[in-house]
Amino acid sequence: MKSALLAVALTALTLSPAAQAKPTPIALAIHGGAGTIDPDNMSEAQREAVTAKLDQALMAGYALLEQGKPALDAVEAAVRVLEDSPLFNAGVGAVYTWDERHELDASIMDGATLEAGAVAGVTTVRNPISLARRVMTDSAHVMLSGQGAEQFAQSQGLEQVANSHFDTERRLQSLHKAKAKIQAQEAVSHQAAVATLDDHYKMGTVGAVALDRNGNLAAATSTGGMTAKRWGRIGDSPVIGAGTYADNDSCAVSATGHGEFFIRYNVAADICARAKYQGIPLAAASDTVINQRLVAAGGTGGVITVDPQGRVAMPFNTQGMYRASIDAEGNKTVAIWGTSQ
Ligand code: ASP
Repeated sequence: MKSALLAVALTALTLSPAAQAKPTPIALAIHGGAGTIDPDNMSEAQREAVTAKLDQALMAGYALLEQGKPALDAVEAAVRVLEDSPLFNAGVGAVYTWDERHELDASIMDGATLEAGAVAGVTTVRNPISLARRVMTDSAHVMLSGQGAEQFAQSQGLEQVANSHFDTERRLQSLHKAKAKIQAQEAVSHQAAVATLDDHYKMGTVGAVALDRNGNLAAATSTGGMTAKRWGRIGDSPVIGAGTYADNDSCAVSATGHGEFFIRYNVAADICARAKYQGIPLAAASDTVINQRLVAAGGTGGVITVDPQGRVAMPFNTQGMYRASIDAEGNKTVAIWGTSQ
């Protein structure tokens, strides 16, 4: 017994200073949407523009983590970069509603406290993710929608813009095509008409997940939703548990894909629950939900995930997913196609 204790003490003494000083891990992953991304329809210039913006968003968030800032700051910073870019379906570049406007949804969750904030159908807030964070930190609520959310944004002094700030010609063309397709089929069935739209019409939702130096996880998601959406349609992105989830005990998840499926399958929370209660790696839990459960149901999309050790998994069941990450080992990825990790 004595000799065993001595051995333990000696091992502790002989640990190199470098090993003792090993910093706690940090990790960040981001996405810019999953869907049919045809390599043959994408010019080299487009590919470069998208990957450069993903890289910029990733590094904006990662720099904060390196400075020891909270995971919440990192995910918000990364998402704001993507919201301000016309390349993605969030903020500038958001898809159009049936009435040729933009209605934006966003949510954020703190894995340390399980606090969360979300906004749905906002039309004038430049960075909906920052409004979602204020809902979490400065209101008594989790989710605000429409005009009330705008009033709250004003009371918080958040930057507001005309709805046309989010306009892009590319998305307007998509709306016109989508409406023509829907109108041609709607007499038969509204569901069938909307189902004829491929995932190109909602492609580009953005999100981020992070692990900070204090071991805290956070997740954030922001979107314009689906092209030609009507009647105040809200997808999964602002729904805690569906499009966004974070819990220090299990994982952080941000989703992108056909929101109606992600809501019904409670995708983000289900992945974390599987990892936690089944004691399986997050990569396995997220792969089961995205590539088995959702595929069987006909739900397209993907997720970015990070666990408390800073391991990243980014499975998707579509042709591609815009994504980038730096894991706990410092491995960096910026990718569109390829395997889902
Ligand atoms: N999940 C988003 C929605 O349904 C769209 C997307 O991620 O492509 O609103």
